[in-house]
Amino acid sequence: MDEVGRVSGSINNCPALVLNADFRPLSYFPLSLWSWQETVKAVFLDRVNIVSEYDRVVRSPSIEMRLPSVISLKEYIPTARRPAFTRFNVFLRDRFSCQYCGDAFPTPDLTFDHIVPRSRGGRTVWRNVVTACGCCNLEKGSRLPRESGMYPRTAPYEPSTRQLQENGRAFPPNFLHESWRDFLYWDTELDPV
Ligand SMILES: [Zn+2]
Repeated sequence: MDEVGRVSGSINNCPALVLNADFRPLSYFPLSLWSWQETVKAVFLDRVNIVSEYDRVVRSPSIEMRLPSVISLKEYIPTARRPAFTRFNVFLRDRFSCQYCGDAFPTPDLTFDHIVPRSRGGRTVWRNVVTACGCCNLEKGSRLPRESGMYPRTAPYEPSTRQLQENGRAFPPNFLHESWRDFLYWDTELDPV
């Protein structure tokens, strides 16, 4: 397939937002996006419906089509009931903010802290692990909360997939095509301009 005409910007900046068969994004964070090549292939395999399109057109010798900007799967993919216990999901549960000082940090600057330190028998589980910045982690060290006076702002819990998705919605990606907005409802849209 070739692109028709020359439009400014790379065609590779035209990913499609992928919705499940219930029209919710497959995931919010990271946002479920497919490259235009994957998207076109899925259209021809009849696995997706086209919900919205870009202005850009691609063509092969036999067909011409506008690139889809939003697609929905024809077959529903059930989402996992229990999210995986990973560093990233701990950060997402805690909204990328240190549970001691309350400040938000980019992922590389975050660590996780065992409320009851491992050296004191604490386990690496949802209810004993919170997001912490390097400074707070260092300060707390291997002390218990009552010894350090440092308590997490929110008692850690095992989140549901829905809770993680809700948190993910608060972090819009850098690129957001206008045809996606109806399906995402970013919190930031509610801010007065
Ligand atoms: Zn901190």
